[in-house]
Amino acid sequence: MERETPSLKSDPKATASADDATQAQHHTCDVLVVGGGINGAGIARDLAGRGVSVLLCEKDDLASHTSSCSTKLIHGGLRYLEYYEFSLVRKALAEREVLLKSAPHIMWPLRFVMPHDPSMRPVWMIRAGLFLYDHLAKREVLPASRTIDLRQHAAGKPLKRHFTKGFVYSDGWVDDARLVVLNAMDAAERGATVLTRWRCVDARRGATHWQVRLQSAAGQTRLVTARALVNAAGPWAAQFLSEHAHAPRPKALRLVKGSHIVVKKLFKHDHAYIFQNPDKRIIFAIPYEGEFTLIGTTDVEHAGAIGQAQIDTSEIAYLCEQASRYFEQAVTPADVVWTYSGVRPLLDDESGDPAAVTRDYSLELDTAMADSSSAAPLLSVWGGKITTFRKLAEEAADLLSAPLQMSRGAWTAGSALPGGNLGGSAGGERGSASLSRGDVAGDFARFVLSLTQRHPQLPPALAQRLARCYGSRVDTLLGAGGLGREIVNGLFEAELNYLHDHEWARTADDVLWRRTKLGLHMNAAQRETVAAWCSAHWRAEVAAGAPKETAWN
Ligand SMILES: Cc1cc2nc3c(=O)[nH]c(=O)nc-3n(C[C@H](O)[C@H](O)[C@H](O)COP(=O)(O)OP(=O)(O)OC[C@H]3O[C@@H](n4cnc5c(N)ncnc54)[C@H](O)[C@@H]3O)c2cc1C
Repeated sequence: MERETPSLKSDPKATASADDATQAQHHTCDVLVVGGGINGAGIARDLAGRGVSVLLCEKDDLASHTSSCSTKLIHGGLRYLEYYEFSLVRKALAEREVLLKSAPHIMWPLRFVMPHDPSMRPVWMIRAGLFLYDHLAKREVLPASRTIDLRQHAAGKPLKRHFTKGFVYSDGWVDDARLVVLNAMDAAERGATVLTRWRCVDARRGATHWQVRLQSAAGQTRLVTARALVNAAGPWAAQFLSEHAHAPRPKALRLVKGSHIVVKKLFKHDHAYIFQNPDKRIIFAIPYEGEFTLIGTTDVEHAGAIGQAQIDTSEIAYLCEQASRYFEQAVTPADVVWTYSGVRPLLDDESGDPAAVTRDYSLELDTAMADSSSAAPLLSVWGGKITTFRKLAEEAADLLSAPLQMSRGAWTAGSALPGGNLGGSAGGERGSASLSRGDVAGDFARFVLSLTQRHPQLPPALAQRLARCYGSRVDTLLGAGGLGREIVNGLFEAELNYLHDHEWARTADDVLWRRTKLGLHMNAAQRETVAAWCSAHWRAEVAAGAPKETAWN
């Protein structure tokens, strides 16, 4: 494959020298990916693994928008069957086990309980739906659905007495923000450059190349020549094309806000609930972060600024009211300890109801100018789900394969993400993905046991948390120096340094709300202590706008 300049360095801790920052202003790569959400990170990873030189730019932190605000389900989407979205459901169902194998530390199987409410869908309809859900795609690890007696089952205890019958089915849980980071890490380890807090402000197209201008938060500018441009700007995808890439908008996006509330734990068992609401929508109540229950989501047309979505009081009232229809203990707005909202970039299929708009994606490859003369490729991502990101990335790379004359093909289906090879030797995080049939929890427990044997100084709760976050990369995190100084309860310098050096963390929010969810377990004073530490150690670097993560050639 053509390489006009050496590829950009990709070590997140490599320091940009003064010379790099002032002299070298112009860089070349095969593909510039705009957007560090799950789709951009997934595409960068796939392309880098095929030997393509990739630069990914993200205007904020990785996963700072839709990809950290999802319900965090790896799911086929039971309710999409009602909209006859069989192909989307089949594709998503098939992805569940592929993904679960790739990073079993941040994703795991989850059983969902649907209490039967006779005033909603009839039993035959639910049974038919679950039969399809069980059989539309191959399952090796996830158990099939079944009917349960809620008077006997642990999941019946927190519910109102009149819910006596229920259905249980399988899907998966994922830490969405960490999934994005792991994709970016894998991309970087395969040669990609990942630039956070750099916005793509202008992209001009020629017959064979794009000339692109990036701008840092501090106003610094870099120029990039790329053979192809990938628009993975999520909810900004249409705006990016018209305002920055000077390209026509091939598709319209429908922006639909979804909000979640977090309350203190409402139940002790490890199943999640799916509740049917009188408006025909559904909401989930999911065990969250050990001490909490996550309840969501809503579907509200979003007209405001894209990056500023926030829950409103009517959404809080709606989620509390629907959850209280099922739980014995009423859920009230006063119980809410945290909320988050995201904007879904949905393909506009002209549905009246936001909940009914398709969740499928479309990839659009454009290789011609308006006058039909040939042009450097532009690939735009429209819509999508966390669950289908790997497939989407694979299809995106396949589409770019001919124009970029790639010699390598699809490779991600059997590959572990960083830290995901729990069965491997200590630090053996790269390799093929594996999961024992039916014993996912056992595999993880064995991994935690071996971790505590290798590092007996780790308190059990910390070992468990680090194993969940970093999988087999814990050994890198602990290195030879151990945990270092404790900054606040359970957060040590070694983790902060690891997050900086390997995961692009630069602010307290990056650490407390995206790389981890420690923010939820801390009080304001503790969060302040972490912010002060990050500020003291990292602020100069962020303010200088010369990202430590890349030494420019
Ligand atoms: C409430 C809610 C619940 C959901 N639940 C689920 C679920 O349970 N399961 C599931 O599979 N899916 C779920 N989804 C869908 C899923 O979250 C999204 O499809 C997915 O995260 C979209 O990822 P993305 O990469 O396209 O967008 P984003 O994550 O928004 O990433 C796009 C990135 O592009 C960056 N960007 C934009 N313009 C520029 C520029 N000019 N220069 C540089 N960077 C730029 C943005 O800063 C942003 O970080 C849910 C979505 C929502 C909102």
